Amino acid sequence: MSRPTQVTINLAKLKANFELAKRLVGNAQVLAVVKANAYGHGAVAVARALPADAFGVASIDEALALRDAGITAPIVLLGGIFAAREMMQVARHDLQVVVHTADQVQALIDTAVVDVVVWLKLDTGMHRLGFAPEAILESLQRLTDSGKVARIILMSHFANADDPDHSNNARQLQLFERTASLLSADHRPPFAKSMANSAALLTRTASHYEWVRPGLMLYGANPLLGCLPEHLQLLPVMTLRSRVVAIRELLPGEGVGYGGQWIAQRKSLIATVAVGYGDGYPRHAPNGTPVLVNGQRCALVGRVSMDFIGVDVSGLAGVNIGDEVILWGDDVTVDEVAQHAGTLAYELLTGVQPRVSFHYED
Ligand SMILES: *Cc1c(COP(=O)(O)O)cnc(C)c1O
Repeated sequence: MSRPTQVTINLAKLKANFELAKRLVGNAQVLAVVKANAYGHGAVAVARALPADAFGVASIDEALALRDAGITAPIVLLGGIFAAREMMQVARHDLQVVVHTADQVQALIDTAVVDVVVWLKLDTGMHRLGFAPEAILESLQRLTDSGKVARIILMSHFANADDPDHSNNARQLQLFERTASLLSADHRPPFAKSMANSAALLTRTASHYEWVRPGLMLYGANPLLGCLPEHLQLLPVMTLRSRVVAIRELLPGEGVGYGGQWIAQRKSLIATVAVGYGDGYPRHAPNGTPVLVNGQRCALVGRVSMDFIGVDVSGLAGVNIGDEVILWGDDVTVDEVAQHAGTLAYELLTGVQPRVSFHYED
């Protein structure tokens, strides 16, 4: 057999998660975030599968990959342009842009473009991108006076939406509201508003406005620090699987893997599985991280290496070379693996390496 490390992407589950988002937001439009190759799921396949009102990407290159694949839906550059010359491409490929600096406003004014849809970004407390509330009116005015803007969507981004009870959420939303009403008093025609990422979409109806921007939830991972409520179950879209490629019996005192950092306490049966950090399995996953072997939960043992891991299958009957192993998917979720490894589902999903073969199913 060839190297058995594979990802399966289930497009039916992706669509079901999207439908859940749609149901929760009523009349709001949905911008499906497909940056970073759709969080590692394949941006073209995801964009083809989802009837989203728009797609969000991180760069012109990501946008062009979708346009080249025939995606005609609106595409928003979530970080805006990185150099003034990119504004021409925005026009040429019918993209929409986030504008969060005075230089980006200037680039738009200086470029021969018409009818650009601008997502004007307000910094309400994330302190990463966006105009300060005191400074945004000037930019709004310059954009409208330029005669080059078709429509403006006022947007902002939560810093603590994963923790729904965090006081910053209400504070950011309030500042967004207040700034929006000050701006709209001076600004005709009115603009749409957008604030919610996945976590806010799921927990904070007041943040839905006209446009929501879910990313992670579409892929079936949990964007909240705590558990999802029962009625908001998401379906994991990605399954990372491999196979047992060797089996050995260890005696008490014998170690597994580099550094021998796990040592058998009793006679143990160890399966070697063809997956490692060279595939995107987290190197920091500790002993005890759950791994499914033949559908049964087992424990990772020993250090994760580039191409292989060890799994303690002592409790399983009849494990054989070639047996199926699931690293994350339905029964061991990517959230669970991320938690063990001290990281987030976002990082694990986007980190799957190109050498892993991808398969799509409906
Ligand atoms: C990435 C991103 C999102 C999506 O965030 P999730 O937590 O994955 O839902 C939404 N808005 C902006 C501006 C982003 O950059």
